[in-house]
Amino acid sequence: TATKPRQPELKTTLPGPKTAEIMARDAQHLSTSYMRPYPFVPDHGEGVWLTDVDGNTMLDFFAGIAVSTTGHAHPHVVKAVQEQITKFTHVCLTDYPQEITTSLAERLVKHVERDGEKWRVFFSNSGAEAVEAAVKLARNHTGRQHIISTMGSFHGRTYGAITLTGSKTKYKRGFGPLLPAVSHVPYPNPFRPPLGSTPETCGQAVLAHIEELFVGILPADEVAAIIVEPMQGEGGYIVPPADFLPGLRALCDRHGILLIFDEVQAGMGRTGKMFSYQHFGNNGQDCQPDIITSAKGIASGMPLGALLAKESVMTWPVGSHGSTYGGNPVAAAASHATLDLLEGVVKHPGCGESLMDNATQVGNYILGELKKMQSEFPFLGDVRGEGLFIGLEFVKPDGSPDGALRDRASMAMFEKGLLNLDCGEAVIRISPPLILTREDAETGLTIMRDTLRDLK
Ligand code: PMP
Repeated sequence: TATKPRQPELKTTLPGPKTAEIMARDAQHLSTSYMRPYPFVPDHGEGVWLTDVDGNTMLDFFAGIAVSTTGHAHPHVVKAVQEQITKFTHVCLTDYPQEITTSLAERLVKHVERDGEKWRVFFSNSGAEAVEAAVKLARNHTGRQHIISTMGSFHGRTYGAITLTGSKTKYKRGFGPLLPAVSHVPYPNPFRPPLGSTPETCGQAVLAHIEELFVGILPADEVAAIIVEPMQGEGGYIVPPADFLPGLRALCDRHGILLIFDEVQAGMGRTGKMFSYQHFGNNGQDCQPDIITSAKGIASGMPLGALLAKESVMTWPVGSHGSTYGGNPVAAAASHATLDLLEGVVKHPGCGESLMDNATQVGNYILGELKKMQSEFPFLGDVRGEGLFIGLEFVKPDGSPDGALRDRASMAMFEKGLLNLDCGEAVIRISPPLILTREDAETGLTIMRDTLRDLK
């Protein structure tokens, strides 16, 4: 017997009275830097559904920016957090080991180790701190200073991270001077190929561009690391061509440069594999990085970040780096529970073998449906992604990005009860909890289809 799929339930016009009241107080007292694109104030959540303080229930297609992989208030995660918080909340990992983080590190490295090469983990509270740690480690290990990053990238808001970030000048304007010795090269975006290349040749074009820098501009033996998002997140949910990351690995090897993959947004199962680089080069074997940064989905919303590095690279001296809260045991408990669900050690009803498996199944379904919509809506220039990491790019008739249309679409979807978020210049990202069922996906797709029809 088929039950009717759950639908968003809007009880008030948006914003409702309590939402409006809290938003007004928020505008009075919180940082002027916060953005408030949609009038939504959460009260509670359950799975892929979030209810606001006025009782309006929305379908969550953005998961707090690709964070809430297990959905809201997952019972398995809640239980793990409750159990740990009654034992102890904090001792400080910099000075004392704690079994829950030891076992978490053992568990995480299993997903990257190969050929008997050992990896180690440094825990932070956020993505930006993991990125900072990666830059410090790369400089400390190589004795070199320069870091190469990509255009369109996002690596966080701390000084090192904003320097590396290659998108939106608002992140940098008025904040300088930034970190010295950082350069940016284009990202191989097959939909908008840089350097006069084509979708097929853009990866090789970027690699050739880096080699040219080494000949005339930047001595390769002064470059500590190249940092790249294996799939670009904030820049527009972009998947590079298959030959780019293996080529980048080879380039780094030729010049003794460390390769850092920032997996903060695309990692932790979102693309259907634990880390997004594992979609390339023989399951990642031909593009194994030296350092990986992770955060967001790693602990279902508890603050946790991680730097994973090859043991041969993690050579910084005792006491040279640490963090008071990094690797907090309550966050680590949430991370263990998250991994249980991602790996399929604990099954989530209706989600196949594991949440990674579900991300692949439901992601392929959404990608297929969105591609069908492209023939109906000429302004959908590109539909791309892997698993539940999907980008939808809006274009003008001449093919240039249509940010204004994207904004209208995004707001109209919100008003129909679908929480979504933009990225890039004209992209809507679909980054729902990985427990999204096909049925709930269809509900979201119907809202999207209806919205796009109204836009036509
Ligand atoms: N790296 C990437 C790829 C990200 O997407 C983000 C956050 N959007 C960060 C780093 C920064 O993470 P955090 O906000 O946790 O510092």
